[in-house]
Amino acid sequence: MEDFKIYVFGREYEVCFRSEEEYAKFVKSEANGLAELYDGKLYLNKTALSETDMTYANFDGFVRKVLMHEIWHAIFFELGIREYYQDERLVDILAHKTPQILEVFNDKRIMEVKSVK
Ligand SMILES: [Zn+2]
Repeated sequence: MEDFKIYVFGREYEVCFRSEEEYAKFVKSEANGLAELYDGKLYLNKTALSETDMTYANFDGFVRKVLMHEIWHAIFFELGIREYYQDERLVDILAHKTPQILEVFNDKRIMEVKSVK
């Protein structure tokens, strides 16, 4: 997968796919992803996230969840809420539920709600 850029509240973040050889921090942290928030980089571990015979059935979904996890770190970082952007449990719960959260807000009736005159 190619690297790409996303924007979190207007700040550019680069989504970087790196192997453990290319990005040694993966080995020490044993992480599938790492958010370098001050550098604006969200790293995904290409070595750990390569599909094998032993990976989950919906492995693409798992890889997307890892990316969403790193994006939630960036969201809380941009909001300036340190205790949340360092809260792995909160970030992981939100990453797990991101598709369902988007589903809630994709109901266009929400944006059509108006005051009653
Ligand atoms: Zn994390």
